Amino acid sequence: MNLNPLQPKESSPPAVSALRDTLGRPLRDLRISVTDRCNFRCVYCMPKEVFGKDYAFLERKALLTFEEITRLARVFHRLGIEKIRLTGGEPLVRRNLEQLIGMLSQIRGLDLTLTTNGSSLAKKAQSLKAAGLQRITVSLDALDDPTFMRMNDVDFPVGKVLEGIDAAAAAGLRPVKVNMVVKRGLNEASILPMARFFRGRGHVLRFIEYMDVGATNGWRMDDVVTAREIVEMIDAEMPLEPADSHYRGEVAERWRYRDGSGEIGVIASVTQAFCRDCTRARISTEGKLYTCLFATSGHDLRSLLREGAGDAEIESAIRAIWGARSDRYSEVRTSQTVEVKKIEMSYIGG
Ligand code: SAM
Ligand code: SF4
Ligand code: SF4
Repeated sequence: MNLNPLQPKESSPPAVSALRDTLGRPLRDLRISVTDRCNFRCVYCMPKEVFGKDYAFLERKALLTFEEITRLARVFHRLGIEKIRLTGGEPLVRRNLEQLIGMLSQIRGLDLTLTTNGSSLAKKAQSLKAAGLQRITVSLDALDDPTFMRMNDVDFPVGKVLEGIDAAAAAGLRPVKVNMVVKRGLNEASILPMARFFRGRGHVLRFIEYMDVGATNGWRMDDVVTAREIVEMIDAEMPLEPADSHYRGEVAERWRYRDGSGEIGVIASVTQAFCRDCTRARISTEGKLYTCLFATSGHDLRSLLREGAGDAEIESAIRAIWGARSDRYSEVRTSQTVEVKKIEMSYIGG
């Protein structure tokens, strides 16, 4: 389904004077949370005890509309954004998401991608690609049902996510990135089976250190399996060598199999903070701008949109916010900062 087959792409915006924060970091990537809802209850993200039947998710009218999201995306693009990742919550539970992708894909020169739990990807991969999605990241934390179900906590089977990954690759959303969060005591025994399975299949498996996002997952440093441990474990069986990063600020450290059978990535957000190269901003489901995943408050862009602000006014508000940014949470993480009440990842957009 090509939603705008005949409509030409709008021209690229003129280059703007480089926008930098107080630590000299440009604004390059934007993550947009399109819903705070999810059909999974991953224990490290939306634990059931907190996100139960009575949990008050945002009402529909609080959510940014597709038109509002697209308008913001254009303003951010003029400010230097090169890449947009749609996320959530589970982005594929937002109705008619293909329509939003069709609208965003009209912005020329934008790398458009999405992170999903893969549960409905087998059904939607073709229509997402046809709407203009370029790439996709699928989260998968284990290859065996008992472990995966303990992590997603809704008895969702591995097989359906694997079908989704195959469908995405078949639709041309290649290479598929597969994200595995590793939490000690839960799924570290799945590291090697996952590496063996995805090696040689053309997908890029990335291991993510378990992070202290939000205020509900009961994070402890002891639960983190470090990127170093993960690389050593895989290297002992399937020898690895370091690979250069694709670009400055890439979050994943890349390693390739010495026999040429592919590569893996490790995202060491806890043990090797990469704040000094962090070029990411986030827009929450209800239109607040956050300049750090671990922020405790955001800046309300929805009010600006709904109170009739022009693009120039929105642009200068974003310039002021980014210009004042000094976040570097992961570099200064201590036992005290872990205690601070942070925004949930499902709302701010992982
Ligand atoms: N629902 C989608 C999914 O799971 O892919 C998109 C949103 S999810 C919040 C985005 C990513 O954040 C996923 O890859 C997920 O595994 C990761 N994530 C969530 N909580 C995390 C945590 N506490 N530590 C590290 N990664 C986490
Ligand atoms: Fe849902 Fe993704 Fe969070 Fe899991 S990690 S609960 S799939 S939003
Ligand atoms: Fe960026 Fe904040 Fe993460 Fe540091 S802690 S890398 S500033 S999002």
